[in-house]
Amino acid sequence: TDTDNADEAVRATCDDATTCKRFATSKGYWKDPYIQYFVRSVGDRKAPEINRGYYARVQGVNHLLDAFLRKTQCDCQVINLGAGLDTTFWRLKDENLMPRKFFEVDFPTVVARKIHNIKTKPPLSKPIIETHSTDSLLLDAHSLESDRYCIIGADLRDLSSLDEKLKKFQLNPELPTLLLSECVLVYMTPSHSSNLVHWAAETFHTAMFINYEQVNMSDRFGQVMIENLQRRQCTLAGVEACQTLDSQKDRFLKTGWEHVDALDMMTVYTMLPQDDVARIERLEFLDEKELLQQLLQHYNICWATKDKLNLGLSQLAF
Ligand code: SAM
Repeated sequence: TDTDNADEAVRATCDDATTCKRFATSKGYWKDPYIQYFVRSVGDRKAPEINRGYYARVQGVNHLLDAFLRKTQCDCQVINLGAGLDTTFWRLKDENLMPRKFFEVDFPTVVARKIHNIKTKPPLSKPIIETHSTDSLLLDAHSLESDRYCIIGADLRDLSSLDEKLKKFQLNPELPTLLLSECVLVYMTPSHSSNLVHWAAETFHTAMFINYEQVNMSDRFGQVMIENLQRRQCTLAGVEACQTLDSQKDRFLKTGWEHVDALDMMTVYTMLPQDDVARIERLEFLDEKELLQQLLQHYNICWATKDKLNLGLSQLAF
């Protein structure tokens, strides 16, 4: 059916993200020794502005995520929604920044692929076994459950099933919780993403939600971005919520979040540690600075907090 085809095109987007991240790390933009186990080859060359865009995305999201982990002293849980083939679990383990439990959710077929890679690649499976105390490690085709890391196959549009599965995997609603969605909500209709964000606000009393995705999509450049995706049968069903930074913030303000902020990625880029930005700008020559600016102005990070435990989550920023 059309819906199945649309979902299949959305599932395929996780390969794009991982391929681009793999290429950028092969050039030295940042380090990720685990991503090679999820995409076989470095693949075709990507334009320098694409690599810088991924650099800003990864550093920007990591900045807020790590700030949350430090603020809660890792006495918290993380839920990566639409995680795809993301490698953050392994980074946090290596950097001694592991939350009590790290959850990932994606479509069952994507999860099955990820689990297959983990099962067959010791550098991926070893850290999971190391952080597991008993011999009851549950690993089947569609889910992984260990003490510190869970991967769950679920559709983020079906909230009752999502809620049920997370609880089955020992999600603790009392614990400070970081929810992350990186290029995920834009593939869902505005009502589906609002419902998801609302579910999160209702479920956790002390939490932060970090959302990275497109913004300012109503201009010519945004239209071209949409057309490029459509050519590959991929529809940005949530593009209405990506018109402005205010529409990004409204999704959270209307669903029970207390403190909300949003920055476009050009602004984030200028706020990242500038010595490292200078380093990556020397990696590849970029002729068209304006192209990078335009690209970065069409993505944003929006983050929202609620803080019953008064941990000071609303201070987390760039
Ligand atoms: N967050 C990862 C990253 O940044 O590397 C992957 C991003 S990829 C562009 C989007 C991911 O969201 C895909 O893995 C896709 O399967 C997942 N996704 C989109 N809609 C979903 C839904 N309704 N339920 C579960 N996963 C979904």
